[in-house]
Amino acid sequence: MANAFIRLNKMVLGSVRIGKTKHPLPNNMTFKLSLLFLLAVLSSACQSPKSSDSEVIEKSITQEKPVMSFTFDDGITADLAGYQFEDWNEMILSQLDSNQLKATFFIRGDNKLNKKGQFLLQSWNDRGHKLANHTFTHPYYNSDKNTAKVFAEELSKTDTIISKFDNKINLFRFPYLKEGQNEAKVDSLRQILSENNYANGYVTIDASDWYINQRLIARLKEVGQNQEEIQKFRDYYLDHILDRAKYYEKLSYEINGRHINHTLLLHHNLTSALFLGDLIQRFKTEGWDIIDAEKAYQDKVFKQIPEPKYAGESLIWSLAKESGNYKDSLRYPAEDSRYEKPAMDKLGL
Ligand SMILES: [Zn+2]
Repeated sequence: MANAFIRLNKMVLGSVRIGKTKHPLPNNMTFKLSLLFLLAVLSSACQSPKSSDSEVIEKSITQEKPVMSFTFDDGITADLAGYQFEDWNEMILSQLDSNQLKATFFIRGDNKLNKKGQFLLQSWNDRGHKLANHTFTHPYYNSDKNTAKVFAEELSKTDTIISKFDNKINLFRFPYLKEGQNEAKVDSLRQILSENNYANGYVTIDASDWYINQRLIARLKEVGQNQEEIQKFRDYYLDHILDRAKYYEKLSYEINGRHINHTLLLHHNLTSALFLGDLIQRFKTEGWDIIDAEKAYQDKVFKQIPEPKYAGESLIWSLAKESGNYKDSLRYPAEDSRYEKPAMDKLGL
């Protein structure tokens, strides 16, 4: 194998000699190239010729760690508790940039037609994030009045708005994660999605960032941009998101028998602006891999569509419900302010 490695190096690097003699390439570049060739040789040499293609693929997609990606819903253009809209939006984007991370934004359309709305979409698009569909007016589809016809119109309006951007993708996220109040409705909405070449932009990890955000803004309006207060909210927020992530990851591992690529539901809001960098760091510290949301959606778990009867909430919640093994332990709604309020009250948040 060592000989093969040297031969390969000679062949590809041409006159470049590895060793004590001079080499025109900088040391570190030669080293990197050598390492790449070594890895290539090792990987081809170590694959058993007897293993079938499917075995090899199966091996390569088995992940040793839980994997996280970030998605943001809605998109708003308001100043928040003294933070100018352009500034707090930039805070989210720069924290994604500094982690070399691309997110997917699920866009509510009705506030994106004016100048600020267009600025927002442009800012996400130009920084390489994906733009996906989250209806025009954010209807609640478990209600009778929001029919399949309403659904088709809402999908199409926002599709027109985001189609102007290079980074538009055909994923759709249901507002409130509600896919219809009965099986026939779920079927008809799914049919419309598929006729329009859309797939469900499933959430695997649901949480209540929106509620912490709401309370943080109320507090900062009272006390101003007080760093001590912000720190207390940051601690609660990080613990809450990690707690929910671990819960859904455990459930998911039991159901799927492996670590999947997760898609975390966050919102375009002040908690994301203030805490996203710390959240990413916390996931890394706790042993999660972090990847781009678009890549996360390539996981085959997203092809596992639950029966209409179990539609709604996060994908993992639905699959758990469908499995029939969690009848007593799954709460409904899966996530809500009602679960966070007592704890936040107690902490004076
Ligand atoms: Zn939403």
